[in-house]
Amino acid sequence: MTTKTAAKKKNGFKKFWKLGIEEYNTQNFDISPDGELIVREGNFQYNIFDIVKKYGSSTEIMFPTIIENRVRDLIETFNAYIKVLNYKARFYYHYAMKVNQNKEFVLPAVAEGANLEVSSANELFLVKRMIEQDKFNAKIRVICNGPKTEKYISLIEELKGKGLIVIPIIEDYTELERLKKFKGEVGIRVNLNIKINSHWDKKFNRFGFTEEELLRLGKVRGLSVLHYHISSQIEKMDGLVKPLKRAIELYAKLREKNPGLDTIDMGGGAGVPYEKRKHFYSAKNLIQHLIKNAKNHCDRLGVKHPNLIVEWGRYVAAPAQLTIYKILAEKTVENKGKNKWYVVNGSFMNDLIDTWAIHQKWHVIPINQMTTRKLEKVWLAGSSCDSDDKYTAGGGYILLPRLSETDELYIAFLDTGAYQDSLASHHCLLSSPAKLIAQNGEIKVARRRENPEEVGKMFGW
Ligand SMILES: *Cc1c(COP(=O)(O)O)cnc(C)c1O
Repeated sequence: MTTKTAAKKKNGFKKFWKLGIEEYNTQNFDISPDGELIVREGNFQYNIFDIVKKYGSSTEIMFPTIIENRVRDLIETFNAYIKVLNYKARFYYHYAMKVNQNKEFVLPAVAEGANLEVSSANELFLVKRMIEQDKFNAKIRVICNGPKTEKYISLIEELKGKGLIVIPIIEDYTELERLKKFKGEVGIRVNLNIKINSHWDKKFNRFGFTEEELLRLGKVRGLSVLHYHISSQIEKMDGLVKPLKRAIELYAKLREKNPGLDTIDMGGGAGVPYEKRKHFYSAKNLIQHLIKNAKNHCDRLGVKHPNLIVEWGRYVAAPAQLTIYKILAEKTVENKGKNKWYVVNGSFMNDLIDTWAIHQKWHVIPINQMTTRKLEKVWLAGSSCDSDDKYTAGGGYILLPRLSETDELYIAFLDTGAYQDSLASHHCLLSSPAKLIAQNGEIKVARRRENPEEVGKMFGW
């Protein structure tokens, strides 16, 4: 075989597994000549199969460089379109901490200029930790969502006292009362009267004031931010643009009594293409549309352009982590054509809970034997005793290499960096995966795989 056809063939496998493609966030991924998964960080590269052989599985591998690149691109893209489209206000990115609170996710985001959004007093406590360790510039801005208990409010006051810009978001009448005497900027959350395409856009949304309630509030002391968070993994660009236009109309009306109101915080919602079959919008296109529409709408209403905030969490964090399992065994699937079960050494219910909770689709690839042509249509079964512990790609199938007597097979779930960690559990007392950090060409063990003593301890043993 000439090198040219070899290259073409290899590229064919790369395409087959949908790697090296920016649209799918796999531009850092490649296949080694031995058919193993490679992840690149500049001129460093990681052979994932070698890493897993060394550190075992089940394992999560996260790449701080991916967080850094995504935050940097996001901020640069907003700023570039603000300039090109002559938008007359500023942009602030706030990383939504609840998406992944691991230090290895938060610090790279902050390093690239992310501000923060916290959803609870405990997350704000982590911000306090970072400040005390002199980990970051006290000019950082922190938006505070979640129920404002007395404890939460006193922590907000304490951090404000240290010079931090901490902006509590008022979500209901009780909080409005509690924050009446608050000396500083506050935000207010609206439950926009609009419907969009997404799992989380519920008919009955309990977060925030209705538009009518807000308009009846009159003057709110210190009000500078109008905040909404419609949903997560919003499927169509329109689902992000339309709410912004509606919020701008409300902002224009609220400014009559609250001239200090100068910012719209759009919350989260930008999605990632977990499903490789559907066409997905790009962030660049989305950002351009957001700013263009904000500008045109404000100009039409004759109102000052507001500063813009996004709290996109999933968009930044999901592609930064892989979850890796070994295939332990195969079984036949009764009554389902040729599909086989592959049993993995971990649990979807525990480690990738959205598989079970919201029937999340994932991009699943082998990390070795990637150039084999012997493929099998499979469903994946977790190691817990629960019949719901499975991944079937929505009842379809996952294509994976056929098991052989001689070679082990390992698989990776891509884009697992958002939401799975803090929701993880211990069904059947299975151990949580190890967490490895790949950075500057080296692997660091951030969290060992739990041993039986550690798991038992959590249950009082
Ligand atoms: C969950 C949440 C986010 C992050 O949402 P993504 O869809 O992950 O971007 C941002 N803001 C608020 C208020 C949230 O509740």
